[in-house]
Amino acid sequence: MTQKRLQTQIIHTDYVPPEGFAAFPSAIHHASTVLFKNVAAMRSGDWKEKNAYTYGLHGTPTTFTLEARLAEIEGGTHCLLAPSGLAAIAMCNFALLKSGDDVLLPDNVYSPNRDLAKWMSSDFGITARLYDPMTGAGIAELIQPNTKLIWTEAPGSVSMEVPDLRAICDAAKQKGVLVALDNTWSAGLALRGFDLGVDVVMQALTKYQSGGSDVLMGSLVTRDKLLHERLSMAHMRLGMGVSADDTYLVLRNLPTLKIRFETHDASARKVASWLKARPEISKVLHPAFEDCPGHENWKRDFTGAGGLFSVLFDAKYTEAQTDRFVDSLKLFGIGYSWGGAHSLCIPYRIQAMRKNWKEKGALVRFNIGLEDPDDLIADIESALALM
Ligand SMILES: *Cc1c(COP(=O)(O)O)cnc(C)c1O
Repeated sequence: MTQKRLQTQIIHTDYVPPEGFAAFPSAIHHASTVLFKNVAAMRSGDWKEKNAYTYGLHGTPTTFTLEARLAEIEGGTHCLLAPSGLAAIAMCNFALLKSGDDVLLPDNVYSPNRDLAKWMSSDFGITARLYDPMTGAGIAELIQPNTKLIWTEAPGSVSMEVPDLRAICDAAKQKGVLVALDNTWSAGLALRGFDLGVDVVMQALTKYQSGGSDVLMGSLVTRDKLLHERLSMAHMRLGMGVSADDTYLVLRNLPTLKIRFETHDASARKVASWLKARPEISKVLHPAFEDCPGHENWKRDFTGAGGLFSVLFDAKYTEAQTDRFVDSLKLFGIGYSWGGAHSLCIPYRIQAMRKNWKEKGALVRFNIGLEDPDDLIADIESALALM
């Protein structure tokens, strides 16, 4: 080829960086187009096989690395990334359900998951039914011939009941129904879903894996290649791409995941114990505490606890008073996502959220961050005094 003109040289550089570079961080590979060596390589490339690259959406070394590491943590073999935890839930539903099918969700499921199921019911010809999260083996009676998927969440969002996952998985196995677990609370560390019989483990990486309150991402891990391929088809068809920079941020925080999680756990138990002794609090809904429905299941199946728990205030306090408590906190932000270094506190109108909620009193959820727990306790004590 003749000497390239400047405009072409700007695009087709001859520069190749020296080989032999080594460092701990994963490289951030940005790509829409992925280049093939030649036409034969392009024709034989299979996006489903992660030993080759075909298109940015189907994976880069950066996303493959995060997928592999998440699968390892969870004790699975395959992983897919999605642009949020909710996107991972949607990908799972679109992959495993079709018109005419039935899906079961616990009554305490993450609310947007329930809302998605409602939408699938109204517009996509799928029936979605809610079950009592404490039903355990009773799930068998709810399984119909067209039931294809059972969602589980351990513990459930906001009200924190811990289901009997073994009983649910056993009943599902007998009837050939797949079980998906939202394992976000445990970060894949404190609960081994696959060992209990779960088929798909979903994570909102937005929480502990990111750890920075800055990334939205989700994942689906499996131990079964065929199931992974079904999920992969939905991943590809729905265009579930994730950003290289966000993927890097999660990779960067992964080495400290376990240490952070253990600190969240210890601090949350310390704060929850302190709250339990307070006259303003009627119940502590933390799986490691006996007040929490399903505490026995937590003791049997979990090796630790997350930093997220709820409390019920004595019914004598009005909503205005418990709202004032939350507003008076100085070290706790008011916000939804969690799993980062900063503590959060948020009230929920639980009576309106649950079908059979029998408890009295306002529910307030705490996310215990990485601050010194004694400072958090002092802050809570001051806010209680202002109630
Ligand atoms: C946050 C969360 C999700 C959804 O994650 P996003 O990334 O915010 O979409 C799903 N399940 C649980 C239990 C969560 O806490």
